[in-house]
Amino acid sequence: MERGKKLEEMFALQNRLNDDTNGPKWREGVTKQGKVINWKRCIVMETAELIDSFSWKHWKNIEGGIDLENIRIEMVDIWHFVMSYVLRFKDPKAAAKLALATWKESAVRLPQRWSEADNGRIEELLSPFEDLMALALVKSEDPLYMEELLEQFWECVDAVGMDFDQLYRLYIGKNALNQFRQQHGYKEGYYKKLWNGREDNAVLQEILATDPDITYEKLLDRLEDLYATVE
Ligand code: MG
Ligand code: MG
Repeated sequence: MERGKKLEEMFALQNRLNDDTNGPKWREGVTKQGKVINWKRCIVMETAELIDSFSWKHWKNIEGGIDLENIRIEMVDIWHFVMSYVLRFKDPKAAAKLALATWKESAVRLPQRWSEADNGRIEELLSPFEDLMALALVKSEDPLYMEELLEQFWECVDAVGMDFDQLYRLYIGKNALNQFRQQHGYKEGYYKKLWNGREDNAVLQEILATDPDITYEKLLDRLEDLYATVE
């Protein structure tokens, strides 16, 4: 599947998720329970969680280091909210087009293995994420502002060493598993999390590793087939 299609699929899924969970007025900034929605604050707070995956505190974790796996998870959390923000103003197709056009490489790349010398570069390594946070705090709803926000998000994706494909796999994986659990009695308490001795999340990761281009619908079908064999 080409990148544009993957982006379209993600925006369509996020659109549906927002319709289902927040009700018909989420684009006007309010949930069906009457709570105010502020997507940009969500971006700020998830970016803070990402920054906390660095040992940035000068008074502890003296040896330094980063939790790259958690950083990737936080990037997907941020992505939910960046998409939601864009979807307030654009339909999924137009949103995907803009997202594709705003891809930007980062001048910074996080080390895959942390070394002592990286401790001295922490300001530089944090800068793409702090820039994203700063932008998300700007009180603007300008179309140009939205482009800048997307560009800065892509810089972060690149800095982490991710790409569209990896973001897609993580996003649809998370979305599909949530959906699947809900459809199979998660809330009611009869969902089986262990699938013949393996955790559902591990099964999902394996499907995605063998077929990284799998569509959302096929992924749900595959989960359905495998779950049917669980004793
Ligand atoms: Mg604290
Ligand atoms: Mg998070």
